[in-house]
Amino acid sequence: MSTKHTHAFQAEVKQILHLVTHSLYSNKEIFLRELVSNASDACDKLRFEALDKNELFEDAPNLEIRLLVDKEKRTLTIRDNGIGMSADEAVAHLGTIAKSGTRDFLANLDESKKGDANLIGQFGVGFYSGYIVADRITVESRRAGLSAGQGVRWISEGTGEFEVEPIDKAERGTDVILHLREGEDEFLQPWKLRAIVGKYSDHISLPILLRKEVWDAEKSAYVTTDEWETINKASALWARPKSEVTQEQYEEFYKTLSHDSQAPLAYTHNRVEGRSEYTQLLYIPVKAPFDLWNRDKKPGVKLYVKRVFIMDDAQELMPAYLRFVRGVIDSADLPLNVSRELLQESRDVRAIREGSTKKVLSMLEALADSDDQADKDKYAAFWKEFGAVLKEGMGEDFQNQERLAKLLRFASTHASENVSLTDYVGRMKEGQEHIYYITADSLAAAQSSPQLEIFRKKGIEVLLMTDRVDEWMLSHLHEFEGKPLQSVAKGAVDLGKLQDEAEKKAAEEAAEAFKPVLEKLKDALKDRAKDVRVTTRLVDSPACIVVEEGDMSAHLARLLKQAGQ
Ligand code: ADP
Ligand code: MG
Repeated sequence: MSTKHTHAFQAEVKQILHLVTHSLYSNKEIFLRELVSNASDACDKLRFEALDKNELFEDAPNLEIRLLVDKEKRTLTIRDNGIGMSADEAVAHLGTIAKSGTRDFLANLDESKKGDANLIGQFGVGFYSGYIVADRITVESRRAGLSAGQGVRWISEGTGEFEVEPIDKAERGTDVILHLREGEDEFLQPWKLRAIVGKYSDHISLPILLRKEVWDAEKSAYVTTDEWETINKASALWARPKSEVTQEQYEEFYKTLSHDSQAPLAYTHNRVEGRSEYTQLLYIPVKAPFDLWNRDKKPGVKLYVKRVFIMDDAQELMPAYLRFVRGVIDSADLPLNVSRELLQESRDVRAIREGSTKKVLSMLEALADSDDQADKDKYAAFWKEFGAVLKEGMGEDFQNQERLAKLLRFASTHASENVSLTDYVGRMKEGQEHIYYITADSLAAAQSSPQLEIFRKKGIEVLLMTDRVDEWMLSHLHEFEGKPLQSVAKGAVDLGKLQDEAEKKAAEEAAEAFKPVLEKLKDALKDRAKDVRVTTRLVDSPACIVVEEGDMSAHLARLLKQAGQ
């Protein structure tokens, strides 16, 4: 009886395999980083499951990763003694893509972007990157806790389908065996493997072992011995002192963590002591991930407790408006068996979240307030990508509202972008008491609004707000440095001291003179307008519509209507 079964890959997997082999080739050595990181994840999972099930360690408590080379067969094997996979898990995890959002992502990916390795990397092509250098991959695995007879062999050429059959496997864990493509023999060279591990996987906290080679004078060549040697530092990067980590190592760690192919915009690494003791290593990416606007997008911070991996994207560690931050938090206080429920209630977690939020804001302030133009440019780039998300913080994080307000940037009638409230206040006219703004669907619509005419004429700056979140944000931003914000499209805009006596007098006289006309207009528009009045805000246009102070702005009314409310 044949026990071999053939399965077809899920359609999305086929698409990804195609993308991987066609567009990641220029950076092919990343396959090793991906497979080593899977091996390391598998060991983390074992360690975690074994917390209350110690027998899962069987008789091999030392978790490790080995790289095995067979020059004759031309195979490179990545072996771990982590959690392993059952037959069902192998079919599910290596034949489908479970991650939510990936389907939509693929559907929306337009042709021009299909070669973008950065985008592809974001949703973790991980395992499939092996096909960049291999034309066949065999995976042999046995899940911890299952018997030796319950192993599984998975084989595929990375085209349409894969085969699965049961095998005996004495040692728990997984072997990923790459049958290298023609011309990829460099990945059989120990020096090459060392170099790649050194570059991408040095921070992996488990030992990565390779057989030792010695010089054989007789053969005048290196020969492989039976002895194993550790080829990485094998200590968690964030646990090392700052002075021992190079910028390049920080950046490579970020890339592994985030699947981003670009270096981060900024990072911060600190050991916090005091009421709560923890280490934080936090990164701000250059580019927004494709799913930043998914409402259920989780913050990208991993939680460790004393170097033991606990969970990915622990939402409790970072407020939602900082969901673009990536990194690691390693707590010395939390219990190892901490659950999501416990995280929500923990005072230690609250302290970590507050501390981490402050660090991220400091990182942003350092860029925004720097005298160095390069930093300022970085902040401008950050604002372009993430500004709209940061604005959410104005309504979510009252504790840091003042700091956040200083980080806001807008377009205005004076500058097309990057105007801070501090800049605005610094340019306020003599006698100006308010910060004026207008909201609209687009910059063009805002700029051509007749409501700006008087402000233009008098040279008073008006902030132009065109982000969807602006209306909502404004309901939480009433003043800045004692200066109230005032919409130019609401009420009878009181220019106060900005208006001279003659102008006031002229306005009063006009109001008097136009009384009969106003009465007629009011009567004619009585079902549609609450009031009709003479205004000083217009210079060229004959009339404009305004909403009453305290009422919903016309722009917000439009947004709500679009949203079907
Ligand atoms: P990701 O690592 O982002 O989940 P991958 O494509 O790298 O995506 O891996 C897919 C899944 O296959 C993993 O989530 C895991 O369940 C399983 N897997 C891959 N490699 C291993 C391994 N060495 N041991 C156990 N499971 C693995
Ligand atoms: Mg992976």
